[in-house]
Amino acid sequence: MTQYENQKFEFEEGAVIKHDLDKAPKTGDWRYMTPKVDKDKCSGCSTCVSYCPEAAIELKKYKDEQKDKADIDYDFCKGCGVCSAVCPMKAIMMEKN
Ligand code: SF4
Ligand code: SF4
Repeated sequence: MTQYENQKFEFEEGAVIKHDLDKAPKTGDWRYMTPKVDKDKCSGCSTCVSYCPEAAIELKKYKDEQKDKADIDYDFCKGCGVCSAVCPMKAIMMEKN
């Protein structure tokens, strides 16, 4: 018997809240770093889309390419760099403003 077997644990239920860009504040001009997508390297895997805390990335048609590519909405991007850190193709570079 482990020390936890007779204990009662209570957990709060989690929730996934849909991000609503209509209610999100625009970034303005205070962003310090700006992510730039290298469309040639982007494979369209959508990892960055899932991780962006501002829901500022979409996959969009790019030229005549078969796969959609990451496209960043700079109105809402805060420059946190998460997208750059998680991209498996190293396709997003953070540039200083
Ligand atoms: S994580 Fe990288 S490769 Fe995947 S869609 Fe985003 S930019 Fe493209
Ligand atoms: S820098 Fe942050 S807020 Fe901007 S697109 Fe990347 S993950 Fe989203």
